[in-house]
Amino acid sequence: MALFSNSLIVDLLAKYRPIAAMTYSSSLLGWDLEINMPEAGAAARGKAQAELELLRQKMTLDLAELVEKAEKQEKLSDAEKGIIRVLKRDLQFYQKVPPDLLEELQKAITEAAIPWREAREKSEFRIFQPHLEKITELKRKQAEHLDPSTHPYNALLDLSEEGLTTSDLDKIFGELIPELKRILVKTLAEGAFPEKHPLEDVDYDVPAMKQVNEKLLSLLGMPMNRFRLDVSTHPFSTRIAGDDVRITTRYEPKNFKAPIYGLIHECGHALYELQVDHELDMTPVGGGVSSGVHESQSRFWENIVGRSRQFVSMSYPILKRSLSFLSLYEEDQVYYYINSVRPSLIRVEADELTYNFHIAMRYELEKKLLGGTINVPELPTVWDDMIEEHFGKRPRNSAEGVLQDIHWSWGQYATFPSYSLGNVVAGMLWNTLTEKQLLPIEGEENLPALKNWLAENLHKPGATYPPKELLTRVFGRGYEPSGLVNYLENKYLKVN
Ligand code: MG
Repeated sequence: MALFSNSLIVDLLAKYRPIAAMTYSSSLLGWDLEINMPEAGAAARGKAQAELELLRQKMTLDLAELVEKAEKQEKLSDAEKGIIRVLKRDLQFYQKVPPDLLEELQKAITEAAIPWREAREKSEFRIFQPHLEKITELKRKQAEHLDPSTHPYNALLDLSEEGLTTSDLDKIFGELIPELKRILVKTLAEGAFPEKHPLEDVDYDVPAMKQVNEKLLSLLGMPMNRFRLDVSTHPFSTRIAGDDVRITTRYEPKNFKAPIYGLIHECGHALYELQVDHELDMTPVGGGVSSGVHESQSRFWENIVGRSRQFVSMSYPILKRSLSFLSLYEEDQVYYYINSVRPSLIRVEADELTYNFHIAMRYELEKKLLGGTINVPELPTVWDDMIEEHFGKRPRNSAEGVLQDIHWSWGQYATFPSYSLGNVVAGMLWNTLTEKQLLPIEGEENLPALKNWLAENLHKPGATYPPKELLTRVFGRGYEPSGLVNYLENKYLKVN
């Protein structure tokens, strides 16, 4: 049966296609900005993107009547219901948040970019402070427009994590954090996973590393005619269309695990988009459903598959062939280098055991900031206090502390938890796929079955079901941290 048979939905989808074409264009412009655009092109690009966004807003609002009619139809398919749900969310956003506020926010974000960079370079929070005060005030206002009846954090959280609330997150972190502490303390005491490894300081040759990445893409079976890999300052992945996904990586000459695991991470994001049902192309549900589910796919491939003993075994010969310094290291030493565990003050350097502490701490901090119990000038001190509580040491300066992440300067509040949700869902996948004997993978020949399972169960529906419902359909329950705890315990405390 065709996914779309209701005539009102068919009509709605025809009217949605120009919006889909705009998303296609904006995504391509966004990708080009990071990869090809000459620096001086930034101002014109900003204006063009803002105009496209206004057009999208107008065209979405024009669909309001049709969406309302379509919603009253009986016997809609799941995909049809999904389309209405997603369009209603878009409509509500544009109806509730005044265009002036969006414009003001965009302006504040643009003006904050350079001061944030400068503040971080000089490690002087006061350079960034007035900009962050402005952005925070506007985000509080935005939350108020979206839903005045709830904590401002909930209103903003719903934008990236549909249906999720602070009480869900309190419960998830409340269960997860003490367990992680227990595993971390024991792992460090046992000492099998080193805090520091000599391979961290070895320089690699960039062309050789590029060769390694090409071979890893082929080991992972990435469809070479449906995606491409480029180099950018911050690695990312973006969907242009169902058969055109772009990923990026970066090469710094030290610590060769960074470009490898960055690449596998982005492949996880790409695979999700590439396996969404093609029948959903150019519809509102033709893409990943939420940041958390997206991050679960990237983390699953990066950590659970990529950092496993079996995958290290599979990739070791490839690494050894291109990176000559590895002739001094056995496969086992490479495995422990890849999985070293070190409480670090910097989120992006964190390992599997400490990463979620960084997120839990940012979550608590953002809740207080948006709720108004603390204000921007107090941030650096509160940040350092919280870090000390988690890691037992204080940042030496604000570049190592409150200025390390770019998210707030981009106006992204309540988006950090998506990273931990991704880890939690990846842990649930580990449990389920181990039971189904699809994990651990023993060799390249096991990868197609794994991808196929992910396609059939998680990827194909795109955004048809809201995240919690998708999880319930796949796992029989919503976000549940015990899978991640079991996985980490099994990996770090049962070393043989
Ligand atoms: Mg990611």
